[in-house]
Amino acid sequence: MGPPGAGKGTQAKFVAQHFGIPAISTGDIFRANVSEGTPLGKEAQRYMDAGEYVPDEVTNSMVRNRIDEPDAVPGFLLDGYPRTLAQVEELDGMIGFTGHRLDAVVVLTVDDDVLVERLLQRAAVEGRADDTEDVVRRRQELYGEQTAPLIEVYRDRGLLIEIDGLGEVDDVTQRIFAALDVIPES
Ligand code: AMP
Repeated sequence: MGPPGAGKGTQAKFVAQHFGIPAISTGDIFRANVSEGTPLGKEAQRYMDAGEYVPDEVTNSMVRNRIDEPDAVPGFLLDGYPRTLAQVEELDGMIGFTGHRLDAVVVLTVDDDVLVERLLQRAAVEGRADDTEDVVRRRQELYGEQTAPLIEVYRDRGLLIEIDGLGEVDDVTQRIFAALDVIPES
C-alpha cells in the first residue's frame, strides 16, 4: 500500500522476484486490458482516466480470477489491491477459499510534496494518462478517503509493516527485504 507515486509498482516487482512469486498489480492488469481494447479495458478506462476507482465488483472478480492461475498457488504479492474496505472483505473471502493467508501488508510512506514531484516526472517518462495534475489530485484524495483507512484495519490485525519510501530505490528495497525476511513463511 501507499499513496500514488509512493513507489508501489517498482518495489512490488523486486519483492515478488525476491520471494519467487508473481506480483499481481491491478493497475497493470487494467492498463493491459485498456491497450488490448478488451471489454474489461473499455469499462475500466473511463474510471482510470478520471482518477476514480474502478467499481469493486469489477476489480474483485478480476483479482479472484488472477489468483486462481497456477503461478499464484504457492503465493503472490498484491500491488494496488485492496484499496477499499469492501475489497478487504472480498480478499478475506477469496483467500479463505484458496487456503492462502496474508503474511504482511507493506505500506510505503512518502511526503506529499515528494509524491507530486515523482508523479509529474513519471508522467514525462511513461506518459501515463492518469498522471496529469488534476487527476493526480483526485487520486490522492481518493487514497486518503478510501484507502488510507485500511492501514488501521491491517495494523489491528498485526500485519502492518510501515516502510520509509524516501530515498534511493535500492535503499527502500533493502528496507522492505529486511522487514519481510524475518516474517515466518505461511
Ligand atoms: P495504479 O497503477 O495502482 O495506480 O492504478 C491505476 C488505476 O487503476 C487507479 O487509479 C484506478 O483507477 C485503477 N485501480 C487499480 N487498482 C484498483 C483497485 N484495487 N480498485 C479500484 N481501482 C483500481
